[in-house]
Amino acid sequence: MCKVLIIGAGGVGTVATYKVAANPVFTDVMLASRTKSKCDDIAKAIGGDRVKTAQVDADSVEELCALMNSYKPDICVNVALPYQDLTIMEACLQCGVNYLDTANYEPKDEAHFEYSWQWAYRERFEKAGLTAILGCGFDPGVSAIFVAHAAKHHFDEIHYLDIVDCNAGNHGMAFATNFNPEINIREVTQNGKYWEDGKWIVTKPHEIHQPLTYPGIGERESYLIYHEELESLVINFPTIKRARFWMTFGQEYLTHLRVIQNIGMARIDPIMYNGVEIVPIQFLKAVLPDPKSLGANYTGQTSIGCRIRGIKNGEEHTYYIYNNCDHEAAFKETGTQAVSYTTGVPAALGAAMFAKGYWRKPGVHNVEEFDPDPFLAELGEQGLPWVELHDINLEL
Ligand code: NDP
Repeated sequence: MCKVLIIGAGGVGTVATYKVAANPVFTDVMLASRTKSKCDDIAKAIGGDRVKTAQVDADSVEELCALMNSYKPDICVNVALPYQDLTIMEACLQCGVNYLDTANYEPKDEAHFEYSWQWAYRERFEKAGLTAILGCGFDPGVSAIFVAHAAKHHFDEIHYLDIVDCNAGNHGMAFATNFNPEINIREVTQNGKYWEDGKWIVTKPHEIHQPLTYPGIGERESYLIYHEELESLVINFPTIKRARFWMTFGQEYLTHLRVIQNIGMARIDPIMYNGVEIVPIQFLKAVLPDPKSLGANYTGQTSIGCRIRGIKNGEEHTYYIYNNCDHEAAFKETGTQAVSYTTGVPAALGAAMFAKGYWRKPGVHNVEEFDPDPFLAELGEQGLPWVELHDINLEL
């Protein structure tokens, strides 16, 4: 018996709700968000009366507690925005509910993300006997579970880790982001950062780049950016000498991004316009295409994986583990594109790992701290099959 409360009715929330509703391990499913009509639309598309819906402002601990105390979920899947992580964690503690999310906390007024804010809740979750599972999307999420799998089954020591994220899809729009535009633009315009020899090296945005070859896709220019799972992975796998994250961007996307920044539309501080206070990046979000709407004409694939070099039985080996996800197939199944799909599927599966008792450990934990085996055993049948290649040229 496991009752789940999903918060957030965007692209990721849509996929997570489809997958949770289809999984008999969950006895009751509720989807709540700021705009209830969006929850109702998703529940209607899924059909039947399996998915209950509710309105909630997840910035308010009081509103969250009122909902949790009346519905009494066992676990809350947070697929709203990173701004809501702390209020939802606080409400979970107050109401005795376990927690899972896909992105680490960011303050609204500072484009800066790190785990310290959420790790500060460790003792309280531990004392309450509650499990909090952090970063259970694809990256962070499956990327870190791939590393845990590599460490458990293929390496005695992991030395070099490169997480490679390619979206080779085409949505036919001049410029659009694949998930929440505000969060996405904040992420990709910040400085790059990677781990080497025990310290963080900071680079200018998109300063380091090189072509990488993605399976089934071909060569794509890949840019070193900072990504949140690096922070926990270098702590949880201390043999790592260097950890980097690469993401592909097209020239057209980068040109738009540069213009957006240069004209001040990526600003996150409020400005006055006609006597009204607006935040430029939030206004920009309102005029950009809704990522959920991209799915209908999206073709091509995503390919996300980990390229690893390390030692097994005294010998050096290389290893590449990845998933390719097709935008059209994702849309056919859930009405959303592959970026929402690759995030929503792991979120729903992580909640199922909790429900089945595999991932229960009081405290606040990043996904790589749990057993990767039961998760990866089901990931393929949930829609994200993975492939392993051994002793190949990693290009890195
Ligand atoms: P969307 O913007 O499409 O959806 C966010 C949803 O959260 C919307 O339904 C929105 O409501 C709701 N929401 C926002 N603020 C509140 C609030 N205060 N109270 C209640 N609901 C609220 O985002 P995505 O679906 O694209 O992304 C969801 C999350 O997934 C984000 O945190 C993102 O960072 C993360 N993500 C993680 C990835 C990974 O691989 N780990 C990859 C991609 C995304 P409304 O509809 O009213 O605006």
